[in-house]
Amino acid sequence: MITNKTLPVQANGHILRGPAETEVMCWQGELFPHTMLTCAVCGLRTAGQIVDGDVHMPTPCALQDGITTTITLDVPSGKILVSDSLRPVYDWDDRGLAPYESALGQAQAMKAMAAIGCAFGPVLHGADLYRTGPDSYVIANPMLDEYGEPVMPDTTHLARVHSGLWAYSIADFEHWKSRGGDPATLDWTDTVVDVTPGVYQFTNHQGERGFEADSAETVIFAHVERIA
Ligand SMILES: [Zn+2]
Repeated sequence: MITNKTLPVQANGHILRGPAETEVMCWQGELFPHTMLTCAVCGLRTAGQIVDGDVHMPTPCALQDGITTTITLDVPSGKILVSDSLRPVYDWDDRGLAPYESALGQAQAMKAMAAIGCAFGPVLHGADLYRTGPDSYVIANPMLDEYGEPVMPDTTHLARVHSGLWAYSIADFEHWKSRGGDPATLDWTDTVVDVTPGVYQFTNHQGERGFEADSAETVIFAHVERIA
């Protein structure tokens, strides 16, 4: 007879979603792990191994400190197109990458998009682009004040990234057009923002250890600054 048994999980440094225990199958006195466990950081997906009555993740997490993903975006035109999606002009192939649900998979997607000229990153329920200095910006979801208004000054607000697709995409407007982007297809979810022409560094914090995308405090998904 096959029965199920719940055993504690030893995460070995991985960050596992859900409870710290898992169900294993019990058959003829032997235990078989069968519930898949996925690390939210490195993307390792395994049913684990049973050692001394606990289910162990087999190898230590290689990304225990999380991931800060830094990319650069050339903006020679001085115009950036800010959107919740710039597909199909910019898209990536996820074959061979870690699961997108993991921080590693998201970092790989951000790098793949940057390589073809699009700054991209997850923002959960949407975010806004704010100017924080002459050539510096944040992609953030500001805390609301006692009147329900964002605490970041409205005068620094440049663009809204809508929430439908849980990500931002930013590209040089002329680069986007040169890849077949058609301005006639832009709508209220897309914004063109004037910036100083140059090279911009995006420092994405979504994969960092302890990052809380849904915090009630101001959440900064990415810092953006001109570096050349
Ligand atoms: Zn891990």
